[in-house]
Order: sequence, then structure tokens, then C-alpha cells
Amino acid sequence: MPSSKGYASNDKQSPLAPFTFSRREPGPTEVAIETLFCGVCHSDLHMARNEWGQSIYPMVPGHEIVGRVTVVGSDVTKFKAGDIAAIGVIVDSCRHCAPCGRGEEHYCAEGATLTYAATDRVDGTITMGGYSNNYVVDERFAHTVPANLDLAGVAPLLCAGITTYSPLRHWKVGPGMKVGIVGLGGLGHMALKFAHSFGAHVVQFTTSVKKIEDATRLGADEVVVSTDAAAMQAHASSFDFILDAVSAPHALEPYLALLKQDATMTLVGLPEIPPSINVFSLITKRISVAGSMIGGMPETQEMLDYCGKHNITADVEVIPMQKINEAFVRMLKQDVKYRFVIDMKTLG
Ligand code: NAP
Ligand code: ZN
Ligand code: ZN
Repeated sequence: MPSSKGYASNDKQSPLAPFTFSRREPGPTEVAIETLFCGVCHSDLHMARNEWGQSIYPMVPGHEIVGRVTVVGSDVTKFKAGDIAAIGVIVDSCRHCAPCGRGEEHYCAEGATLTYAATDRVDGTITMGGYSNNYVVDERFAHTVPANLDLAGVAPLLCAGITTYSPLRHWKVGPGMKVGIVGLGGLGHMALKFAHSFGAHVVQFTTSVKKIEDATRLGADEVVVSTDAAAMQAHASSFDFILDAVSAPHALEPYLALLKQDATMTLVGLPEIPPSINVFSLITKRISVAGSMIGGMPETQEMLDYCGKHNITADVEVIPMQKINEAFVRMLKQDVKYRFVIDMKTLG
């Protein structure tokens, strides 16, 4: 395959900059894609700045990838050249452990291979993500995209979409349930759309007064500004389920106080500084605090098909590749409605 180009982070403080590298030719069960759009996830920012202490440089971030198939290996059955394919947060796994057997490759007992900044199981190189003009992946880790959906709006489904769809399904969110979504960012706005679509009564929590109208438009039955103690208190002990998609350190106690007895608060946000929990908040109502990570390959395809059927995509602001550093800064200021997506043809 000709050399690839993209934008890379070279250390934890420098801006992302143009970078060239090479990818292998696709093997028999692999496809090569030309990247069309790539979403900008807050995890890309955490990783570029080494906030989780696991970054490997140079790093080409990006794990919300939609592209056009350019080459198919001889044994590929799911795609042909010219098809649209989508790639998310993981691109390989051991494929023989119990979770992999269940289609929960993201919980692979040997560790799934991340789309970037991980050691590739096939060729031992460091994986380079979707802020680049192409990708090579096994067809098991690539998804088909419903033809009716706008492709820029599809890209964020590959991480923000599945990361919220999966826990909402796992905790059986549906009619008759009162559900809270904390944080109206990329993940939060997808959680809001899904929880509303699944028929729950949805309350959006936000720190941004300016997002109230949008939250209602996106499907919230009620919106609470979380800094308003009286508004929070009005919802005490009334929630069946709360999903927390906040990227920055914040207190969990105010939300635990809103759960009913035996209810669950699931964390998907991954702030640099982990939260602390007062156990008394849990024992007095037998509350569970849980976590959830992206989703497996079958569930990711199920989510994309659900989005096709219900015409759900992310609300996006499409940017040229050259604006990525500005996008990171705006994301930190909670100034994104509600996902930046890079138009990869701007890479030139
Ligand atoms: P994002 O678009 O930046 O949204 C984060 C939201 O958190 C903001 O829009 C804001 O919502 C809220 N927030 C930000 N700073 C805050 C503060 N200081 N106090 C309270 N709220 C604050 O980020 P994202 O891409 O949705 O990602 C969210 C988190 O999920 C990140 O930590 C990311 O790494 C993680 N993540 C986890 C998984 C997983 O598998 N579990 C997958 C993808 C991403 P309001 O303006 O409404 O308050
Ligand atoms: Zn992500
Ligand atoms: Zn496995």
C-alpha cells in the first residue's frame, strides 16, 4: 500500500502536525479503506495529552471512522470495493476467548487491539488511527452502514454511539423508566437521542445553561442545570438509571442522591482524575455504580442498523483536518454541538 498520511501528536504538549507513515497490504480477510470522515472523541484529546498514562508517540488519533473500501482480500465476504465501511475503537482481538466467542471483543480476555496507540496483532507495528487517509482492518472489525444515513453524522456512532447504546440496552432502558444523562457532549447527546428513542422519560443534566434548548430538541423531557441545588433536590430518589458521560473530574454524590433504591449509575466518562465515592451513599439505598466500555462487533452493527431504521445520526460540526488543534481547545471549553467530524478530503 502507498504511504499513508495523517495528523499526529508527537508528545503530550505539542499540537498535532502532519505525519506520514505506511500500512501493510490487506491480508485475505482484510479490507483497505479510504477515510472519508473521522469523528473527534474526547478520548483522542485525553490520549494526545497522555492523561491516562498509556500514550505512545507519534500517535495518529481517531476511532470514529467512515470510509470507502478500496481493496478487499481474497476471502472477504462482507464488502466489495466501493462499499462504505465503518471502523470504531477496536480493530482486533484474540478471537478465541469466551468474550470474543460471545461477540464481546471489547472485553477480550487477552486485551482487544485499539485502533491507535496499540500493538498490532498482525504485524507488530503501532496502530495509527483515523486522522489519516486510509486504514487496513479485518472485516470482522468493520461495519456496514445503512444507506439512508449522512456519513459525517455516522462517524461519531462508532464510538459515542455504541458507548451509550450498549449500557442503555444492558440496563434495559425503556418505557416506564426515568433516566438521567449527565453531560451534553458527544457521548451525552447520543445517549439522550437513544434513551428518548427507547421510550424512557429522559432528564438531561448539564453545566451549560446555553444547551438547555438543544437538550429539549434532542429529546429531553426535562433539563436540569446541575449547579442549581434546588433543581437537583427536586429529583431526589426518583431515577431508575443514570448514565454519566462527563470528561472532567466532578462529584458523583449529587447524582447518587437522585437514584431510587436499587438503581444504577453507570459511568462511561473517563476523567483524568478518578472519582471518589462515599460508601454511605451506596449502602443507604443499595445503589450500584457501574462502568461500561464501547461495545462488541455484533452490538455495534445492531446499533448502526437501529440508527438506519430510526434515522439517528450525531449532530456534527464538520471541520477541515487543519482545524484539529482548534477543535481540541473548543472541546475543552464545552463548545461543540455536539461532535466535531473531520472531512478527510481536506487532508489534501
Ligand atoms: P465531550 O464531547 O467533551 O463532552 C463532555 C461533556 O462533559 C461536556 O460537553 C460537558 O457537558 C461535560 N463537562 C465537561 N467539563 C465538565 C466539568 N468540568 N464539570 C462538569 N461537566 C463537564 O466528551 P465526549 O467525547 O462525549 O467524552 C466524554 C467522556 O467519555 C471522555 O472522558 C471520554 O474519554 C469518555 N469515553 C469513554 C468511552 C467508554 O468506552 N467508556 C468511550 C468514549 C469516550 P455539559 O456542557 O452539558 O455540562
Ligand atoms: Zn471515543
Ligand atoms: Zn479474546
